[in-house]
Amino acid sequence: MSPEIKDIKVMVGKKIPKEEAKTLDKSKMGVGVVHPPAEQEVEGQHLIVDPFLCPWCFAVVYVSDDTTAYHWYMCPSCGHYFRY
Ligand SMILES: [Zn+2]
Repeated sequence: MSPEIKDIKVMVGKKIPKEEAKTLDKSKMGVGVVHPPAEQEVEGQHLIVDPFLCPWCFAVVYVSDDTTAYHWYMCPSCGHYFRY
């Protein structure tokens, strides 16, 4: 049986080299998650997540779209950094 193929649209993050990441504000760093949060977790909170493709390992990562709180993100799969 052949696998089902799905076309999904995701934004590709922009790589942040490790050297540059050291100079960035850690309090503005969001950590991506592998699964989008469940409904009850997002109720009453601003926790809209956008799927992103990690530019380093090509994992699909969900990050908060709150760009005021977060300016850059860490990939939960490979630990590298990226931004919108
Ligand atoms: Zn990654």
